Amino acid sequence: MFRILHTEKVAPEVDKIIVDAPFVSRHARAGNFVVLRIDEKGERIPLTIADSDTDNGTITLLFQKIGKTTWKLGTLRTGDSIRDIAGPLGHATPVKRYGHCVLVGGGIGAATLFPILKALREKRNRVTVILGARTEELIVWKDRFSEVANRVLLTTDDGSAGRKGLVTEALQDVIENDPVKIVLAVGPIRMMQAVAEVTRPYNLKTLVSLNPVMVEGTGMCGACRVNIAGKTKFACIEGPEFDAHEVDFDELALRLGFYREEEAESMKSFKKKCKGKCRTAEVKGSRGQGVK
Ligand code: NAD
Repeated sequence: MFRILHTEKVAPEVDKIIVDAPFVSRHARAGNFVVLRIDEKGERIPLTIADSDTDNGTITLLFQKIGKTTWKLGTLRTGDSIRDIAGPLGHATPVKRYGHCVLVGGGIGAATLFPILKALREKRNRVTVILGARTEELIVWKDRFSEVANRVLLTTDDGSAGRKGLVTEALQDVIENDPVKIVLAVGPIRMMQAVAEVTRPYNLKTLVSLNPVMVEGTGMCGACRVNIAGKTKFACIEGPEFDAHEVDFDELALRLGFYREEEAESMKSFKKKCKGKCRTAEVKGSRGQGVK
């Protein structure tokens, strides 16, 4: 059992929890994730480790309440427990001294970049962070990013904060004006695909963290297969980060949609069970497909 030590709402339908998980915390590296199961019968879901504190033995997880499991996770409070947390899983981000690095985060996906930012800064890289969201209140951890990054650029679809437009427009400007050595992007699939198209003509090394459906996270079930340069890879053990220019994003989007009907049915029966007392978890206007 893993005890929840703190819960907090960070944006509409986005929650943060701090969990007592000393082993995971001690071994976590930037880019790792965990697979958790709320209770014995629960679905397994992957969540990227957004922060870890080795002194206190804790990990921080951020999640968007977009389906039954993430909604249930959002009902847990300080003192409650999560049945299983397996991790840290996946390869860590390759962190070395690159020079000027750009991190691009879309919506909730941005939180995943925080440990990567810290690790890159520890290696004395100069890091520009681009955070994009539909509207200002959906920008995640702007202050925390600002404390560590050399520069933070904001974009919103509606112009309520920073530049009005998409993260890719800001990225294009940065690349044109300040030579970049590496780009790392996390967010909706179509955003990561668009980032890959911006950097491709510059032959600029670009990594994306993929979020396919995962079950056990150890390479046995094959649910998280992704097509990288025409070859099948398992995101859980060979990723989750891959060269953006080699990813088949269309196939990834298709596979993520496979269980949409079952997911909707599961949410419907869950809502029925709580007899209208639970809040709905739909995120209006979201282009999102997954929870990781
Ligand atoms: P969203 O659809 O509101 O998009 C957030 C921002 O991304 C937009 O404001 C825009 O700047 C950019 N963007 C989106 N689509 C784009 C496109 N086609 N071209 C260029 N830029 C684009 O995002 P959301 O509703 O907050 O959803 C967050 C998404 O992040 C979910 O899909 C979730 O699965 C994903 N996510 C991924 C990971 C991961 O590991 N890859 C981790 C956490 C979350």
